[in-house]
Amino acid sequence: MDDYACLKQKEKEQRGRRQRLGRALGQAMGFGAGDGFYHLPLCFDGLPPKLIKTINPKGSLLREAACTAVAAVPASGKPSTLSTQKATAMTLQPVPPAKTPARPASSNPVPFSAPPAEGPVRHDWTLEEAARIYHQPLLDLVYQAASVHRAHHDAHSIQMCTLLSVKTGKCSEDCSYCSQSAHHHTDITPESFKNVEQVLETARQAKEAGSTRFCMAVAWRGVREGEEFESLLAMVRGVRQLGLEACASLGLVNQAQAKRLADAGLSAYNHNLDTGPEYYPKVVATRTFQDRLDTLEHVMNAGIGVCSGGIIGLGESPEDRVGMLHTLATLTPHPESVPVNALVAVKGTPLEHRPPVDPMELVRMVAAARILMPRSMVRLSAGRLGLTHEAQALAFLAGANSIFTGDKLLTTPNPHQTDDAALFNSLGLRGRPSFEALKANHAAGKTAEGSG
Ligand code: SF4
Repeated sequence: MDDYACLKQKEKEQRGRRQRLGRALGQAMGFGAGDGFYHLPLCFDGLPPKLIKTINPKGSLLREAACTAVAAVPASGKPSTLSTQKATAMTLQPVPPAKTPARPASSNPVPFSAPPAEGPVRHDWTLEEAARIYHQPLLDLVYQAASVHRAHHDAHSIQMCTLLSVKTGKCSEDCSYCSQSAHHHTDITPESFKNVEQVLETARQAKEAGSTRFCMAVAWRGVREGEEFESLLAMVRGVRQLGLEACASLGLVNQAQAKRLADAGLSAYNHNLDTGPEYYPKVVATRTFQDRLDTLEHVMNAGIGVCSGGIIGLGESPEDRVGMLHTLATLTPHPESVPVNALVAVKGTPLEHRPPVDPMELVRMVAAARILMPRSMVRLSAGRLGLTHEAQALAFLAGANSIFTGDKLLTTPNPHQTDDAALFNSLGLRGRPSFEALKANHAAGKTAEGSG
């Protein structure tokens, strides 16, 4: 038999298997042999269908059933455990996927079995598994990520966050992407420490505009004890009193400082890894990757949610991106939120001539983060201005469920609020209430999160 005939034969066998399984399912759902034929939605590798659709010969939907467990299905297509439950507790094995022709190594180097959408949250990913997830063909990756996303989150709900720079510029650190580093010659105007009332007024406005998380960032190496830290603690308390989640991005923080921030009511602490461990020294020289991990540990120990992600477009390789995702996905617990940023190349920084990030690469990062860290909020952060509505829609489909709103993200431009409102409207999205994700994570920590 030649290759073509062999393929056709396999397709025929596959079709036959699906029809037999469909018939068995239909009988279990209360339909007789003459009622029509039955159709299973396509499964991707290793995942059971979440919904079984029963369709009559004219194509109209007769019934849907939730699929809640997996069991063996013999070659006859008659699932052994499928007999009494009519609609909600069926067990079945996905039809083995047809063999597809091998892809060129560059687009799909490794065959991949997707993790179950509703499986336990894992913290033991290997680097190889993370790479296999990341390197899939983009549409397969987005499809899987969307399934995982919908199993763990309300896919129509997007959290809106506002980020305010409490102190701008003259930072001692040399992060090569940053407009605020004193090591670079950028056009930004340094601003001194804002006072508490100024910050709280901005937080009030953010709340009125629909934000449920308010983030305060300070451009310095790390938290300094004294008047400024006391002001920051007052800001945190004030933001919480407004009913907003309070997040701070203050650089390196020690254990005692993290404890004081927790006592003030801080909901989350942002400290990005930026990139993978191997590439990190090419991005920042004034502190190490381990310094970053130490700060995350202090934050976690204090019981504050960790917000940590990174930036793509720094000149890193795909392996560096995978390395960053793997580091985050093997933390216990996973970060409460994972910002995914695209470099905004700022004039005067060492990266000013970096080419813009391909939006599909950003979508790929979002999708991989979603699969590896199913319960985390994935925040579509800097670089959103370079994305069309269509690219943002794909990122939301792939599992992004938070954005930063407001015309400016610290010092770089961000889409206008009316543009975001139009985007939400056209996609049927709505703002997510505050504390929802934190509560869900907390609850999950007592259940499945601990089993992963
Ligand atoms: S990213 Fe933060 S720490 Fe690095 S230079 Fe900018 S403000 Fe400073």
